[in-house]
Amino acid sequence: MQIILTTLPGDGIGPEVTAQAVRVLEACAEIFGHELKITEKNMGGAALIASNDPFPKDTEEACLSSGAVLLGAVGGPAFDTYPGHLRPEAGLLRLRKALGVFANLRPAVCLPGMEAMSPLRPEVVAGTDVMIVRELLGGVYFGARSTEGQPGSRRATDSMTYTEPEIERIAHVGFRLAQGRRKQLFSVDKANVLDSSRLWRDVVTRMAASYPDVKLSHGYVDSTAMALVSKPASFDVIVTENMFGDILSDQAGAVVGSLGLLPSASVGGKVGLYEPIHGSAPDIAGQGIANPLGTILSAAMLLRHSFQLEEEAVSIENAVKQVLAAGHRTRDLAEKGAASVSTERMGGLVVEYLRSIAARA
Ligand code: NAD
Repeated sequence: MQIILTTLPGDGIGPEVTAQAVRVLEACAEIFGHELKITEKNMGGAALIASNDPFPKDTEEACLSSGAVLLGAVGGPAFDTYPGHLRPEAGLLRLRKALGVFANLRPAVCLPGMEAMSPLRPEVVAGTDVMIVRELLGGVYFGARSTEGQPGSRRATDSMTYTEPEIERIAHVGFRLAQGRRKQLFSVDKANVLDSSRLWRDVVTRMAASYPDVKLSHGYVDSTAMALVSKPASFDVIVTENMFGDILSDQAGAVVGSLGLLPSASVGGKVGLYEPIHGSAPDIAGQGIANPLGTILSAAMLLRHSFQLEEEAVSIENAVKQVLAAGHRTRDLAEKGAASVSTERMGGLVVEYLRSIAARA
């Protein structure tokens, strides 16, 4: 298969972690006999410096004409004084809009041997493997908003709106993902209070008839937040609206531990966007110590969701699991005072394990 990608390394540790994910993708393509074509483009602060635009036209064109986009991270203190529309984060919003991605997939997995990274007791977090599906283009973040009145008596309003088609398309993503996993979909709303949530619950319930193999349950966002910390391993796929998903996906990430390990995908539009959940980590940029595994696992999601290359994705995920099980750690994962490996070495280890998995198959 021909795999055509655009990579946007971005700022801070972005280029360091993206380079390792590209190495892993190249090895994977070679092992499985795919042709990989990668175009690298500027994004975020790097693009601001090069062309005074955080999301330049040629970057947009390259992204839209490729099969998927892999992003490192954008932003950093050097760009904090730029006006809002020129901030790297504004470029990221434009990128997501240009790609039309409406479903954000955030897996939170407690990999074997990584239980100690969690703030929870090991026996509570062990076995956690939850996929949070967050609606990305609707709800309160996109509803009408206003601030009226004078200081001291101002009134501010944000409105949360969902249409049936918006709920249907994200629920389809949740049901289909559940079909490929443990077949349990948990839909989160606040239907005891909000009209938009009552519509959400109504539509998702109606759709369950089309997915008889999936067990659908519903929960309120407040009780779900509690369950995510008290019994995180009980969840399979969670589907929810934009703001609830924003909060719950960060919470799920914290439950399993390291920021550097977690990938994400934004799909449903013309081209899928894959990126680690962490930012540009300016405090460690350029030191060669960033953890590339979140980006490498994002590359695995890219192969699965944009190219339907399940075996290839699983091979990369297994290589990462084996590297960690063998005790290799970047500094963020290492116990205090213990030895750690560099960003480049960690990428190299994943490639080595990937090759040895392929050789045994
Ligand atoms: P951050 O995720 O960059 O860093 C938070 C902490 O986690 C830091 O101590 C950092 O060193 C550590 N960390 C993050 N990723 C790591 C990795 N892969 N390996 C090892 N340690 C890692 O969050 P922040 O400091 O709040 O933000 C820094 C910049 O990144 C800001 O400009 C922010 O706007 C931007 N940001 C970008 C994105 C994105 O590109 N999607 C997301 C979040 C933040």
